[in-house]
Amino acid sequence: MAAKNFDMIVIGAGPGGYVAAIRGAQLGLNVAVIERENLGGICLNWGCIPTKALLRSSEVFHLMHRAKEFGLSADGIGYDLDAVVKRSRGVAKQMEGGVKHLLKKNKVTVIMGEATIPAKGKVSVKSEAGNEELTAKNIILATGARARNLPGLEADGERVWSYRHALVPPHQPKKLLVIGSGAIGIEFASFYNTLGADTTVVEVMDRVLPVEDAEISAFAKKQFEKQGMKIMEKSVVKQLDRTKTKVTAHIETGGKVIKEEFDTVISAVGIVGNVEGLGLEGLGVKIDRTHVVTDEFCRTGVDGIYAIGDIAGAPWLAHKASHEGVMVAEVIAGKHAHPVKPESIAGCTYCYPQVASVGYTEAKAKELGYDVKVGKFPFIGNGKAVALGEPEGLVKTVFDAKTGELLGAHMVGAEVTELIQGYVVGRQLETTEEDLMNTVFPHPTLSEMMHESVLAAYGKAIHI
Ligand SMILES: Cc1cc2nc3c(=O)[nH]c(=O)nc-3n(C[C@H](O)[C@H](O)[C@H](O)COP(=O)(O)OP(=O)(O)OC[C@H]3O[C@@H](n4cnc5c(N)ncnc54)[C@H](O)[C@@H]3O)c2cc1C
Repeated sequence: MAAKNFDMIVIGAGPGGYVAAIRGAQLGLNVAVIERENLGGICLNWGCIPTKALLRSSEVFHLMHRAKEFGLSADGIGYDLDAVVKRSRGVAKQMEGGVKHLLKKNKVTVIMGEATIPAKGKVSVKSEAGNEELTAKNIILATGARARNLPGLEADGERVWSYRHALVPPHQPKKLLVIGSGAIGIEFASFYNTLGADTTVVEVMDRVLPVEDAEISAFAKKQFEKQGMKIMEKSVVKQLDRTKTKVTAHIETGGKVIKEEFDTVISAVGIVGNVEGLGLEGLGVKIDRTHVVTDEFCRTGVDGIYAIGDIAGAPWLAHKASHEGVMVAEVIAGKHAHPVKPESIAGCTYCYPQVASVGYTEAKAKELGYDVKVGKFPFIGNGKAVALGEPEGLVKTVFDAKTGELLGAHMVGAEVTELIQGYVVGRQLETTEEDLMNTVFPHPTLSEMMHESVLAAYGKAIHI
């Protein structure tokens, strides 16, 4: 049987792959997307979306406990973890169905199976239905990433979990150890801690959420501790001794190793790109540790092979993957495309309180030689935050003192994951302090703090 030919084949239907496929089809290309597990990839099925569904349940639960503060009464507050998880899985399923519909609507050929690239321009797909051979001038690698397993700390799905297990927990943690305080670790710590698990977070770096601005990390840490979490910074889990019912963690901290028992451990020590088994080595595609090396247009250096999203390296974020997907589809279709600027991609963490940032931290800006102006505004000075019962938070902005360019924005507090986009647009438009100061922000909104933080950087804040 002759191989089916396409203009563009996308391997992996996560937020990178399915978006690239849709954009390619919109531009008139004959597109196939190959997926071995779930349409929507990790993001919709095992990442962004189901975690946000879980966190919404814990947020509502947290608010129910605060009912009295709002003049309300709520007795007999409780939860059913199975039902919480069922809701999260339902949300993921609904999103997967949505992607299926969009691919169909855009006439993208969807093939469910495992893809390999036997030679340039060729793709083999292995599925239950048998093997299928395809050809295409352009192949996009969008195979994503998976949880990193450190020796001795490997997830087993029983007492030691990866994010996948933590999303469909086989039991309810009572005493939980979370290894790693990046976005994934802290979100699960926040979820299970709110549901009552006695939670310890161990972080090897000198602060939680180590990619964030130091002041934001410190603020978030205080809030986590107030909620009863134990945070151990500059600490390393060296070993896990497992039995059927418990895990003893050997934790190196403050120059000694302590042993502590937990019933559950979540290992959130990073991710590794799915670079294996595709045949990349034989094609000459360069791999650096666990990601494919690409240029600013996601080209791998091998003609007709592109890599986008998590497989192409940091930042490991769905919106970065999707944006690269659109860009590559446009490059392939011969359109003018703009490279993605990593320093303009916001990062959001949906713990309680939320954390969001874009651009350089104050320390990074200084390290790069900028003379900076820094503005800060606390949530307590904002009427809407107080009315919402969310007076704990901070908005910090970093400007280039010479040009007034907004170098970075860093926030912690309620709804900041929704607010950050205001600053992202500002950075994209290369805004300066003057534009931001002259912008009228609606009242009463949390966004007014974004204005005040800019004003504060120039000594003009009104409400502090
Ligand atoms: C718990 C968790 C929470 C997260 N929360 C957020 C968040 O809030 N916001 C955010 O921006 N990001 C979040 N992320 C990260 C986000 O999920 C990823 O950045 C995003 O999914 C990357 O998209 P992708 O298209 O590159 O890859 P993926 O989503 O990983 O998709 C790759 C797809 O390729 C398929 N595949 C792999 N190999 C093959 C093959 N050989 N043949 C066929 N198919 C193959 C896989 O089955 C998978 O479906 C989270 C991640 C996790 C784990």
